[in-house]
Amino acid sequence: MNIQKTEQLYEGKAKKVFATNDPAYYIVSYKDDATAFDGLKKGTIAGKGAINNRVTNYMMAMLEKKGIPTHFVEELSERETVVRKVQIVPLEVIIRNIAAGSFSKRFGVPEGVVLKRPTIEFCLKDDDLHDPMVNEYHILACEWATEEELKTITDMAFRINAIMKEFFLKLNIELVDFKLEFGRTPDGKVILADEISPDTCRFWDAKTHEKLDKDRFRRDLGHVEEAYQEILHRMFGEKA
Ligand code: UDP
Repeated sequence: MNIQKTEQLYEGKAKKVFATNDPAYYIVSYKDDATAFDGLKKGTIAGKGAINNRVTNYMMAMLEKKGIPTHFVEELSERETVVRKVQIVPLEVIIRNIAAGSFSKRFGVPEGVVLKRPTIEFCLKDDDLHDPMVNEYHILACEWATEEELKTITDMAFRINAIMKEFFLKLNIELVDFKLEFGRTPDGKVILADEISPDTCRFWDAKTHEKLDKDRFRRDLGHVEEAYQEILHRMFGEKA
């Protein structure tokens, strides 16, 4: 494969997206920049881009092997990956196993309460509106996704949760919650897109419940870089 970057299409909070010499592919480049609270808090986490690139690609490849279609094509370098070009479905899909973050705040369920069963939430991807939570009726009424797409997304999200929960538990990590994004291929299939990393998942040490994710940055808990490194180390061991 000889995919080369052409022009930059988009710069997000944590990644840049480039067009390439092949119209079927994009290249994403992971940054060390971090934001939280709707962009109000800004900073950098040294080495985060490289870690998120590696963690995401490993998870995507693993999910592919287990039958989940993803946008992952090929890791190009420490920070850059070739992905399939998709049209992003404008929803953030959040799966939760343990109460934390906005769930705890909204519903008064203390952080750390293990949920009787996993939950799913949809938020509209719209920074100006602060990504409001929406339900299935809103999604269908406003045509953010079709009924068939919504069913596929929901089924895939819970399957991904089961696979990831098992994977991380073997590393002594509890998968508290995470956010997924999906995209449509030119032939109309829905596939997993975006990233799976300590930026988009809550990871807690299974024994100590120590936070090993972006909450260390959001809540000024210190040892932010070390938490990202710890995830890498548990996943890749000495090769990390
Ligand atoms: N999340 C994310 N991007 C967002 C919002 C949430 O990746 O824009 C992830 C977040 O890291 C956590 C999960 O989704 O793993 C649930 O986040 P929550 O709704 O609790 O929001 P937060 O507390 O992060 O504001």
